Amino acid sequence: MVSGVVAPPKLELGNPDLIKSHLYSLWLFHTKTSFGNSMNEILDLTKPDYPILDSLRDQFILSEHGLQVCIKDAQRILHDAFCQEDLNRTSWYSEDWVKQVLENALYSFDRGCDRWRKLYHEAEVQLQEAREIKDKSRTGSLTESDREKADRLEKDASRQLDLLVGQSSKGRSQSEFEFYPYRYFASEGFLPGFNFPRLPLRCFIPAGDKGEFLSRPRNVAIRELAPRNVVYYESSKFQITKTRVSLKGVNYNSVSCCEKCGYFHEGTTFNHNTCQNCGSAVTDRLDYGLKMDTMITRRRERITCDEEERLKYGYNLTTHFRYADGKKKEGVVSLEDGTELLRLTYGETAEIRRINRGLRRSQVKGFTLDTQTGEWGDTNGNNSTPSQQLQSGVNLMVSDTCNILVVEPLKLPGKQMNEFLTTFQYALERAIQAYYKLEMDELGSERLGEGRYLLFWEASEGGAGVLSQLFNDSHAFRHLADRALDICHFIHDKPSCSVACYECLLSYQNQFDHPLLNRHLIKDFLTELTESELSCLNSHSSNHFDDLMAHTDPNSDYERVVLRAIAQMGLPLPDKAQDYFAEAQCKPDFTYTKARLAIFCDGSVHDNPTQIQCDRIKRQDLEFLTGYKPFVFDYKKDLMKQISSLKHLLD
Ligand SMILES: [Zn+2]
Ligand SMILES: [Zn+2]
Repeated sequence: MVSGVVAPPKLELGNPDLIKSHLYSLWLFHTKTSFGNSMNEILDLTKPDYPILDSLRDQFILSEHGLQVCIKDAQRILHDAFCQEDLNRTSWYSEDWVKQVLENALYSFDRGCDRWRKLYHEAEVQLQEAREIKDKSRTGSLTESDREKADRLEKDASRQLDLLVGQSSKGRSQSEFEFYPYRYFASEGFLPGFNFPRLPLRCFIPAGDKGEFLSRPRNVAIRELAPRNVVYYESSKFQITKTRVSLKGVNYNSVSCCEKCGYFHEGTTFNHNTCQNCGSAVTDRLDYGLKMDTMITRRRERITCDEEERLKYGYNLTTHFRYADGKKKEGVVSLEDGTELLRLTYGETAEIRRINRGLRRSQVKGFTLDTQTGEWGDTNGNNSTPSQQLQSGVNLMVSDTCNILVVEPLKLPGKQMNEFLTTFQYALERAIQAYYKLEMDELGSERLGEGRYLLFWEASEGGAGVLSQLFNDSHAFRHLADRALDICHFIHDKPSCSVACYECLLSYQNQFDHPLLNRHLIKDFLTELTESELSCLNSHSSNHFDDLMAHTDPNSDYERVVLRAIAQMGLPLPDKAQDYFAEAQCKPDFTYTKARLAIFCDGSVHDNPTQIQCDRIKRQDLEFLTGYKPFVFDYKKDLMKQISSLKHLLD
C-alpha cells in the first residue's frame, strides 16, 4: 500500500495556450473526425493555397446543438475546483471566453496549418524552378555544372515534398515521421503535446536518396543548428550550409539590447535611447537580426583544421528578455530594518530572445548570408557569390515564450562579485527545484547583461507555475534560503567539499561556470535571507487588454466584440482606444501606432445614410492629414474574415 500526502500537481492552469490546446482537443473529439496519417488527408494539395478539404471542413463544422454539447462539456471539465482556483486569478478567463475559443476552433485549426503550407509551397516552387532550368538546358544554353545544380535542386525539393506528406517513411510506422498530423499540431501548440518539444527548429539532412529533418528545441538549435556547425547523423558528418529564404526576400528585424540588464527592444521601441527596464543607455544595436528558420545541411567528410579550430570556440551567444504588456509583478525582499536584499520581477508569458552573433574566433561579426540562395558564408565570412547578393553582419535569433523571474541582488560584496552572483544563481536554482519539487530540466537560469540580473525561467510546457506562486508567500525566500543553506552543506557539514562539489552546486550543465563557484561567498547572504520578508510592489495588475476594454465606448458592444476577437486570435493588441486626432477631428475606436492603422467598429448606428457619408469624409481626412489608414469592421460581415484581413496588415 502506498500512503502519505499527494502533492498537488505543479502545472500552471492559468495559461491560456495550455487551456486552449485542451479545448481544441475536446472540439476535435466532438467533431468525430480523425486527422489520418498525412497532411494530404487534411489539405487539398491540388488547389492554390492548399485549403482544408471540403469534405473534412463539413465534418469540422459542429451543428448548433453539437457546439452547445461541446461547450457544456468543456465548462464541466473546467469547473473542477482545482482548475477554478488558477483560472479565477487570470484576467482573460470567463465562460464566454471558453465559448468563443470553441466557436473559433476551426479558424485556429486552419491557421495551425499555415506553417506546413509554407514549407510545402516553398518546396514546390523549388521543384518548379529546377525543372524550368532543366528545360532550358535542352536548348543548349546551360553549362554542364548548371544542369547538375538544377538536378540537385530538383531531387532536394522532391525529397522534402515526400517528407512533408510522409511518403518517405513507408515501411515504418506511419506515426513516426516529423509531419505526422498529431505530432505536427502538437508542435504548433494546437493540441496538447507533453511528449513533443514546442515549435522546434529543424534541419534537413540529405541522407541517401531520402532525407530526414532533425528537430531541436529552439534554445538548443540556436547553437547546434547555427551556420557551419557540424551535426552527426548515423555516424556521418553534416555541416549546416544553408537556410530557407523567402522568395520575397529576407526579412530582418532590428533589435536593440541593454548591455546592463539584457532587456531587448524592437519595433517601435528599437530607437529608444534608454532601456525600458533599467533606464541605462542602450548602445547595442543590431540591424540585421534574422529569425532562425529551417536549416539545410550538406554532407562533409572532412572539415579543415582551420575551420575546426574556429568552431571549437563556439559562438558568441547572448540572452535577452522582454515582458509582455501589463504582465509583470514586482516585489522586493528585505529585512525588518528596511535593508533591501533582492528585487524581483515576475513576467507571465514573457519573451526570451537568444541571439547568435557569430563565431567567437572569426574575424567578422555575425554571419554572411547569400540572400538569394540562403547559403551561409564560411567561418571567415567568405562566400563565393557576387557581393551584391551578400549580407554580412546577420545575427540569428530565436524566441521562446515562458514565465520568468528576474532576480536582482541589491546587497553586493565589494570583491569577487562575479563569483558571488554565479554561486547565488545556482544555489537559488537548486533551492527552487528542491522546495517546489521540480525536475532539473523544468527550471533554467542564466545571468544577463553585465551579470547583475539573474534570469530564471520555467522550461516545461505550460510552465510549472512555481515562479508566480513565490509571490503568494511573504516568507518564500526564508524557505528557499533554508534549502540553499542545506544544499551548500551549512546545516550538515561536509568537510570534503572545499568550495563546491557535485552534491551541492556543480553539474555537467554549468561546467563553464565551475571556476566561479564558491559556496562560502554566499553563506552570510543566505543567512540574512532566512529572516527576510517578501512584499509586492504593484498589486494593480495593469493589463493592457483591460485598459483598452476600459476605454471602449460604453454604448458600443461591437467594439468589445472586435477587441476580444483580436485578442483571441492572437493578433497584437491595438496600442490605444478612443485616441482623439485633433487635426482630423476624429476619434477611431482603436489605433495601431506602428502600422499606422485606425480601427473603426461600425455597429448598427453606422447604417444610417447620413452617418455613412459623414464617416467616409472623416476617415478620408484622417488618412490625408495623419497618414493613419482606416480599417473598418462591419457588424454585418463575417467577423473572422475581417480579423484575418487585419492580421495581414499587421504581419
Ligand atoms: Zn536595461
Ligand atoms: Zn559540496
